[in-house]
Amino acid sequence: MATSRRAVALISGGLDSMLAARVIQDHGIHVEGINFFTGFCVEGHTHAIRRKDRERERPKRNNALWVAEQLGMKLHIVDVIEEYKDVVLNPKHGYGSNMNPCLDCKGFMVRKAREWMEENGFDFIITGEVLGQRPMSQRRDTFPVVARESGANDRLLRPLSAKLLPPSLPEREGWVDRERLYDFNGRNRKPQMALAAHYGLHEYAQPAGGCCFLTNEQYSAKIADLWKARGARDYDFDDIMLLKVGRHLRPRAHFKLIVGREEGENKFLEGYKGRHFSLRAVSHTGPVALVDGALNDEGDMRLAAELVARFGKGRDAETVQVEIRTPEGETTLMDVRPLPQSDIPSAWYLG
Ligand code: SF4
Repeated sequence: MATSRRAVALISGGLDSMLAARVIQDHGIHVEGINFFTGFCVEGHTHAIRRKDRERERPKRNNALWVAEQLGMKLHIVDVIEEYKDVVLNPKHGYGSNMNPCLDCKGFMVRKAREWMEENGFDFIITGEVLGQRPMSQRRDTFPVVARESGANDRLLRPLSAKLLPPSLPEREGWVDRERLYDFNGRNRKPQMALAAHYGLHEYAQPAGGCCFLTNEQYSAKIADLWKARGARDYDFDDIMLLKVGRHLRPRAHFKLIVGREEGENKFLEGYKGRHFSLRAVSHTGPVALVDGALNDEGDMRLAAELVARFGKGRDAETVQVEIRTPEGETTLMDVRPLPQSDIPSAWYLG
């Protein structure tokens, strides 16, 4: 069935959205992808930062771009970092089991796609949502909420579960054939895998549990700590990037240390030396650490230096010399005894 209708597909980079777009392409409909960059996306940054991940066999890639390439489809990547803050900070429908505002997030993304559709003269929106797959946003009672609150209404088509849902406008108008859509339901991935095989798609990303860091318990704990320490629920892009990197310890209410876990992270943290106090052992090999907050006196500086010494090669040495650098570049050298592991309360470790 060839029509001149055009659809915009939300592309996360995972299998479901890839299949949804492919199914509609199969109807002879022109499909373009849209991918929203919130800053919390799992893929990309951390893999690019961490040497361990970089050295894994599979080359790292932007999965959304890769999907678009596989489907021969144009992809629009839209930066929504600023606008998305309101979704994270004030979700009308609340959070999931961690800091993930999935229902508001879905409504937001479909709304942005709807605006894009209207601006660009497209006819409908496709998502890879599957009924019953996610506890918060992909339920029979929440599907209409997303359609309504986004303003997409019946121009929102979920090809993978369409047969279980009331017919959307593209189905009613005959732009797509409802009989050639699907009735996938629940968390079983086998139908998607079979459909992928049908299309000859043998390689695809396997998102583990969620498409963003907000579903991650440790990451969510670090956000909660950040807001508590600053006395305000707010963040900027650097905050959310730094929460993805290193070991985070809060030895005092007024400062936190972010300690690199390997060379890739150390290099990344070095990029922030102009904005934060930073520490690094000079007598022994060791990590770069950033201070988020303030080192108010010599006691704070010593404690931070003792902790940094603890995470380097000098951890068993009598004394380690640590350089403490201000954001302006002034340095102080301090000889300290590495803090014994037994003196680091588990409560200092965030996430
Ligand atoms: S997992 Fe993250 S990106 Fe996906 S719907 Fe939930 S909040 Fe949005």
